Amino acid sequence: MARIILLGAPGCGKGTQAKRLEDLLKIPHISTGDMLRQARDEGTELGKKAKEFMDRGELVPDELVIAMVKERLGKEDCKNGFILDGFPRTVAQGEALDKAGVVVDACVDIVVSDEEVVRRISGRRSCPSCHRIYHIEFSPPKEDNRCDACGAQLVQRDDDKEETVRQRLRVYKEKTAPLEEFYRNKGKLVTVDGNGNPDTVFDRIVGVLKDLGYA
Ligand code: AMP
Repeated sequence: MARIILLGAPGCGKGTQAKRLEDLLKIPHISTGDMLRQARDEGTELGKKAKEFMDRGELVPDELVIAMVKERLGKEDCKNGFILDGFPRTVAQGEALDKAGVVVDACVDIVVSDEEVVRRISGRRSCPSCHRIYHIEFSPPKEDNRCDACGAQLVQRDDDKEETVRQRLRVYKEKTAPLEEFYRNKGKLVTVDGNGNPDTVFDRIVGVLKDLGYA
């Protein structure tokens, strides 16, 4: 049983690391960003409400996200634990987990510099057709700006544009960084250096989880 929160600025590698942890620990990876993007793309009521905030790099209102996460955590596959990626994002969301009786075993804070975040995110490109993700520097497509798998023209997500990334970093510092203190006070915070390649960072995360007895 491991109930893990991955904390860290956008672009710190939470999503990548959460997927790897999901494979290793056999517990579901729950990404509120992915859930909200899906709702937005499907044009659901929630998606319509979330879109304007997401496109501006701002947080979607707490009550919408909290309701969505509570429903997800109530599903059968979360019985043996979960990896939360992108939630909680505000102290109010952390408190909502407490109120709902959701126990957190560890909050892993992945730390990277602002400049590294901008480099990582603003270089991201994705395929609008088959949703493959590329990076102009770290994993470029074979042919300039075309998807290797289906040939579609790659696009940059609106919220990955440099200006929006900087806005997301400001929002992170103001609204999300206080959660470090919140989980430190509960004795649940562990800090991991997020610089370096994904394999190195993964080894560090697994190392701290092993020390805690969760991996
Ligand atoms: P992410 O992929 O985690 O960076 O999330 C993309 C966008 O979805 C964020 O910039 C927010 O607009 C929204 N979002 C994701 N998770 C949350 C959350 N826990 N609370 C509020 N907004 C969120």
